[in-house]
Amino acid sequence: MTGSLTVVGLGPGDPDLLTDSARAALDRAQDLIGYIPYVARVPERPGLVRHASDNRVEIDRARHALELAASGRHVAVVSGGDPGVFAMAAAVFEAVDHGDPAWRQLAITVEPGITAMLAAAARLGAPLGGDFCALSLSDNLKPWEVVTARLEAVLRADLVVALYNPISKARPWQLGAALEIAAGIRAAETPVAFARAVRRPDEAIRVMTLAEAREAPADMATLVLIGASTTRLIPRGVGQHPFVYTARSVAAR
Ligand code: SAH
Repeated sequence: MTGSLTVVGLGPGDPDLLTDSARAALDRAQDLIGYIPYVARVPERPGLVRHASDNRVEIDRARHALELAASGRHVAVVSGGDPGVFAMAAAVFEAVDHGDPAWRQLAITVEPGITAMLAAAARLGAPLGGDFCALSLSDNLKPWEVVTARLEAVLRADLVVALYNPISKARPWQLGAALEIAAGIRAAETPVAFARAVRRPDEAIRVMTLAEAREAPADMATLVLIGASTTRLIPRGVGQHPFVYTARSVAAR
């Protein structure tokens, strides 16, 4: 088999945050596969066939990519942010795991990208300076009881929590329920950040307390960060959001 498959992370949005290595993989590709808005971020050029698909068909998309690569094509599968974070890389390896044994011989590589959590953290200051974790609030691929059990565990462990996929049209109430759980475990003045469309033209960053956060609007392009007991705010001027950082040192209990 002479084809190849590269799973490429496009970063949060700004083309300057795409790695050179990812850009080179996109330049080599003959076929481009991914969710419509991510495929749209890659400029058209002669010799590049674009296969944009809807969001909910990740495994089909992965199989399609593997079939094309097995037929000798150079294929790039694209994801926003990092492709290994709640994105296509896991779908590709799941398809390999359960698919045609010949796919294991393919040249499959993953090009990392800057994930939303890191892009948002950089805008805020240093909220991930201590221990942290990332959770997807989506219950499309796991039961809601699993989401809440994990959320409670990490809130009790005093980790900073980054919430991906906080809300969508099909999941309008989950973020409110998650913040309710957080309010039952963490102090009302805990900093919470809503980082929307980070590194895109419509970026919006809001920082508030957990008590205020329950009223805050969010959408599919928002990453929500819930601070730990060691997360601090540094107020700044009018119209500027405060810096948010999490101290690296934690007092003995
Ligand atoms: N692979 C992606 C995450 C896919 S899950 C990554 O590594 O970033 C999709 C979720 O990521 C969105 O619902 C949102 O919570 C978050 N997200 C992706 N891009 C974002 C951006 N530019 N700003 C804020 N959040 C973003």
